[in-house]
Amino acid sequence: MVLLGYIDEPVGDEPTSLQDIFVGGQPSYFKDVKPPTELTTCKNCGRHLSLLLEAFAPFHDELYDRIIYVFMCPKAECSKKNGSVRAIRSVCKDPTLMDENRSQVEQEAEERVVEPVKDLFGELKLDSNPFASANPFASGNPFDKKEKVETPKKVTSQPEPTISSIEPQSTTKPKKTSQDSFPSFFLYVEEETVSPKKFNLPSNIEIDESVLDAEIETEGSAKLKGSDIKQAIDDDDTFNTFTEKVEHNPSQVLRYHLGGKPLLYNSKDGIYQTIIKEKVQGKQFELQIMPKLIMDIETDDFEMDWGTIIVYTDTNDAIELDKEYVGYKEEWCGVQYEQWNSPL
Ligand SMILES: [Zn+2]
Repeated sequence: MVLLGYIDEPVGDEPTSLQDIFVGGQPSYFKDVKPPTELTTCKNCGRHLSLLLEAFAPFHDELYDRIIYVFMCPKAECSKKNGSVRAIRSVCKDPTLMDENRSQVEQEAEERVVEPVKDLFGELKLDSNPFASANPFASGNPFDKKEKVETPKKVTSQPEPTISSIEPQSTTKPKKTSQDSFPSFFLYVEEETVSPKKFNLPSNIEIDESVLDAEIETEGSAKLKGSDIKQAIDDDDTFNTFTEKVEHNPSQVLRYHLGGKPLLYNSKDGIYQTIIKEKVQGKQFELQIMPKLIMDIETDDFEMDWGTIIVYTDTNDAIELDKEYVGYKEEWCGVQYEQWNSPL
């Protein structure tokens, strides 16, 4: 199941909570434990990175909490430079909080008991969580406390669903302001729906034949002929597929599909090669940020030109925890940029 994130209300004076999914602004951290500075600095200029995305993303039916962060250097000269966009995974395995989550999970399990049993187990079976065998339903009786009535937990003021149905303890902190932060918006998440209508992008593209012999200066030393560009467009099914898929839900700024496949923006770069050859060792696709976000958060000071930002995370979710039971780990982050042919 692919989940799509859309821009919701701006993050105003109301603080974000750890259970929110939002773009821009300031990150919030489990127990206010900040990640090591070396994980949140630009590898190109050494400057502190700005938050692009914070996504609360606990594994379904797992008790511990988990957040994916994507950071980007706000300096224009670092655009397209290695290490100017970085992804970090954080988990919190505090036993006390996990106990509280257990109650929540059990309560949800109770609610599902009224569903046909077939559906319950079907859902569990289809769960893409690689830890399915370690989930609380597999290791013990999830219903042994079902007579216990839990007070509903405090939920965030935002009505949008989170990626997971687990609602752990809410921790809020005051929002800070910073001139280096991107404009901030909450996201709401919905399952992707694809209408049967077939979009056909190439038919919308018209090539001015007179430019086919013109030479176009590219960033490198090579000069490309217009006719080469037309050929490239015809060949690049990847970009067409990307566009066609996005056309179904053009406002999407986030795609989430743990263990699924990313929607690749082009087939011409190293990121594409790495992904299709399955060389992201020990990791699985988790989410990607979509270019519509540029329209929402780009400022005059910082123009963005990426096509998509793809994040792969550890398949086993392993992480080293500190004494607060909080851990941080950098994850694989691949940025596909706008190609020389895409603006046509
Ligand atoms: Zn930088």
